[in-house]
Amino acid sequence: MSQFDAIFVGAGHNSLACAAHLALKGWKIGIFEGSATIGGAVQTREFTLPGFRHDFGAMNLSLFAGSAFHRKYANELKAQGLEFAPVVDCFASAFPDGRWFGVSNDLEKTAARIAAFSAADAQTWRRLVAAFPAEAEHLFRLLGSPMSARALAGTAWNLWRKKGIAGALDTGRLLLSSPRAWLEENFESPHIRATLATWGMHLDFAPDIAGGAVFPYLESMANQSFGMVLGKGGADTIIKALSGMVTSAGGKIVTDAEVAEITVSAGRATGVRLASGETHSATKAVIAGVAPKALTGRLLPNGSGDTGFDTAMQKFRHAPSTMMIHLALDDLPDWRAGAELRQFAYVHLSPSLDAMSRTYQQAIAGMLPDEPVLVVGQPTAIDPSRAPQGKHVLWVQVRMLPAEILGDAAGKIAPAHWDKVKEVYADRVLDIIETYAPGLRKKILGQAVFSPIDLERQNPNLVGGDQVCGSHHLAQNFLFRPARGYAGWNTPVANLHLTGAATWPGAGTGAASGFMLAQQLGGR
Ligand SMILES: Cc1cc2nc3c(=O)[nH]c(=O)nc-3n(C[C@H](O)[C@H](O)[C@H](O)COP(=O)(O)OP(=O)(O)OC[C@H]3O[C@@H](n4cnc5c(N)ncnc54)[C@H](O)[C@@H]3O)c2cc1C
Repeated sequence: MSQFDAIFVGAGHNSLACAAHLALKGWKIGIFEGSATIGGAVQTREFTLPGFRHDFGAMNLSLFAGSAFHRKYANELKAQGLEFAPVVDCFASAFPDGRWFGVSNDLEKTAARIAAFSAADAQTWRRLVAAFPAEAEHLFRLLGSPMSARALAGTAWNLWRKKGIAGALDTGRLLLSSPRAWLEENFESPHIRATLATWGMHLDFAPDIAGGAVFPYLESMANQSFGMVLGKGGADTIIKALSGMVTSAGGKIVTDAEVAEITVSAGRATGVRLASGETHSATKAVIAGVAPKALTGRLLPNGSGDTGFDTAMQKFRHAPSTMMIHLALDDLPDWRAGAELRQFAYVHLSPSLDAMSRTYQQAIAGMLPDEPVLVVGQPTAIDPSRAPQGKHVLWVQVRMLPAEILGDAAGKIAPAHWDKVKEVYADRVLDIIETYAPGLRKKILGQAVFSPIDLERQNPNLVGGDQVCGSHHLAQNFLFRPARGYAGWNTPVANLHLTGAATWPGAGTGAASGFMLAQQLGGR
C-alpha cells in the first residue's frame, strides 16, 4: 500500500492536467488507469498497419491549444515534447449536388467561397467575424470559469458593463438558441447553414435542439479567426507531454490498474482499492475521472450517503453513439466536388439541416440511420508524419447512432448486437463516402472499425459509445453538469471529486475541468 496526497481514478487528459498542476504544487500524486494505455479518448495507435498512426478519438486539439492550462504551462509542455500541427484549411462540407464550401483561416478565401452561394451571407460572415473578439471574450470567460452562481453573476456583470442590457440579452439569446434558429436568422444559403450546423452534431445538438447554436457559432468563428490545431505525430502528443509533467514532478502513473472501489471512512474518501486487491491511500483528495453512473453504481458500493446525488448520477443522460472507422490509404480521397477538399482537416458529409435532424431522431429511436452524418478527418493532409511517405490515414467519425440497435431506417440490416452489425454498417458508410469520392475503396490498404460498444470497451467513460460522456443539452449543462449542486466537481463525500467530460464545462480536449479543479484544490 502506498500513500499519496491525491489519487486519480483514470488517466484521461483532465486527470493528467489536474495531476500535473498539483504535482508542481508539491502534492504526491498517484494515477491509476484501468487500461494498458493512458489518455482515454485521446490516444494515437497503429490500428491498421505498421507506420499508420490513427487518433483513436479526439483529433482536433484546438481546445487544448487555446486552453488556460496551455497558456500557463506552454513551456513545460513544450519541454516534454508537445508539438502542434497548425491547420489553415479547417473544415468543409461536400454536397450531393457536386458543390462544396469550406472555412479556411484566410478570411478573403472563405468570404469568396460564401459569396459564390450568397453575397448577403458573405457580408454576414464578415460582420460576425469582426464582432467575434468582443463576443468571444464573454463566451470564453463563461466556459473557462467554475460554474457557480457567483461566477455566472460575474460574467453577467461584465457582459452588461461592456455590451449594455440589449447586448447582454443578445448573448443570452445565442446561448439558448437552437442551431437552426441561429443559422436561419443569419444565413440564407442552405449549403452554408448545413456546413456550419454539422458542429452541433459533434455533440448532441441536432439542428432543432435549444442551446446548440453556440457550437456552430464558436467553431466557425474560432476556425476562421485562429485556424485549427492537430497534434504533430498524433493527438497523443498532449498525453505524452502531460504525463511527462506529472512523472517529472514525482507523480506515479500506473496502467492496467482498474480501480474497483473508492474507499470511504466517516464520510471522507480515503483512497482506492484496485481490481487486483491492492489498496492505496490518499490524504487530501481522490479525484475520479469517470462516468457518473460508474461512480455511484460501482466505485461507491454503499453509495455517497446522499440518495439525491446517487439518483442523479444513475439518471445522468448519455448522448447518441459514435462509430469510428480508421483507414490506411494509398492516397487521399478524390473528392468529386473539388480537389481543394483534399487539403481540409475535416470534410463533413451531411446534405442539409433536415437530414441531420432525421439522423438524430433515428438514432434516438434506436434505428441505424440510413444516412449518418460523417466527419471525414484527413490528418495526414496536414501532418504527413503519421503515415509512411506518400500514404495517408483517414479518420471517419460516424454520427449519430443508437447504442442498442432496434431497427434500420434503411430497412436492410436486421437488429442485432453491434459486434455482428459493425462491418456491414461500415460498408454503408463507405458506400456514402464513395458517392462523394469515387474510388475510395480501391485506395484502402487497411481498415479498423470501432463500434459504439468497442469504444466503450476501450474506455468505460464512453458509455454506449457516447463520445462526449453525457448529453450537453441545457438541462444537463452549466449549473446542471453533472447534476444540480455538483457543478463544482464536488460530491457529497468529503475529499472526493469528479473531473472529466461529464463535469462542467463538458467534453473536449480543453482540460478545463481538470485544471479548474486543480486550482481550486492547490491554488493558482
Ligand atoms: C471518437 C471521439 C472523437 C472525439 N473527437 C474530439 C476532437 O476532435 N476534439 C476534441 O476536443 N474532443 C474530441 N472528443 C472528446 C474528447 O476526446 C473527450 O471529451 C475527452 O478526451 C475526455 O477526457 P476525460 O478527461 O474526460 O477522460 P477520458 O478520455 O474519458 O479518459 C478517462 C480514463 O479513465 C479510465 N478509467 C475509467 N474508469 C476507470 C477505473 N474504474 N479505473 C481506472 N481507470 C478508469 C479510462 O480507461 C480512461 O483512460 C472525441 C471523443 C471521442 C470518443
